[in-house]
Amino acid sequence: MPADNTTEAPVTAGIRRSAGRSVTATVGDFRVTALCDGHVDFDISRFVGVDLDQAKAVAAPLGVDAGDLAVSVNAFAIEVPGKLYLVDAGNGTIRGPGLGHLITALADAGHRPEDVDAMLMTHMHGDHAAGLYDSDRSVFPNAELIVSEAERAFWDAPEKLDDLQRSQLEIALQGFDTHGGRTTLANAGDEVVPGITMVALPGHTPGHVGFRIDGPDPMLIWGDVVHVPALQMARPEWYFRFDADPDTAIATRQRILDEAASEGYRVTGAHVPFPGFARIERHGGGFAYHPLDSD
Ligand SMILES: [Zn+2]
Repeated sequence: MPADNTTEAPVTAGIRRSAGRSVTATVGDFRVTALCDGHVDFDISRFVGVDLDQAKAVAAPLGVDAGDLAVSVNAFAIEVPGKLYLVDAGNGTIRGPGLGHLITALADAGHRPEDVDAMLMTHMHGDHAAGLYDSDRSVFPNAELIVSEAERAFWDAPEKLDDLQRSQLEIALQGFDTHGGRTTLANAGDEVVPGITMVALPGHTPGHVGFRIDGPDPMLIWGDVVHVPALQMARPEWYFRFDADPDTAIATRQRILDEAASEGYRVTGAHVPFPGFARIERHGGGFAYHPLDSD
């Protein structure tokens, strides 16, 4: 696996200064730009069954204080000549002042919302989907909404949702509604746009997916496979309370980290420290997360 252009920067460094910023990497003919919607302070109690002392012991060797964690909310612009895609839409206007800076970040990358041809959705929780709309109007009026069939089915059966998931229902449905007839349901393995394939990452939600950008040094953009690399690389079994199916979420995380370490492809995601481009290596009984310098 290539070990060049990696850094050993603490994985939470710089997050709070990144809202509204953009950073670019390339995959063959694709330009992939990480867009920082903002950050949320992350209390360790959001991991089920993990106490602060345990977390501090895992994070301290990485130079990270588990008592002062901030988690990025990232989306990604993907450009090829003549086309612009966005992976996820950020928080929009529904949350506090530290969030909702996606459109500023998009402008920083030189794009307007109306330039976006398709929204590739990892899933429909509020920090990914609330930015799709502003009241009853689409923020991306020319974009097709591409979402997994399993994700649509999840939100179409509200009687099966627990209270936590139900708290996101209105956002998910509003996201679907504002795109109406411009929605395409896809399945894992589908090439949703030329060169970009939907990848099944079930657990966080049943229809949670990533997008693999094919090229000479491919990249997987996952959604919520990892929330805090400083903790979950060493302890992939630690899970977030918003995971709809924890056992499946843990199995997915183990599988993808193992695959990324074996195959050497690049990864990034919605909550890894901005901009998030990284490679995964095996380390001890778990994994290590190596941020990459941007282009
Ligand atoms: Zn999320």
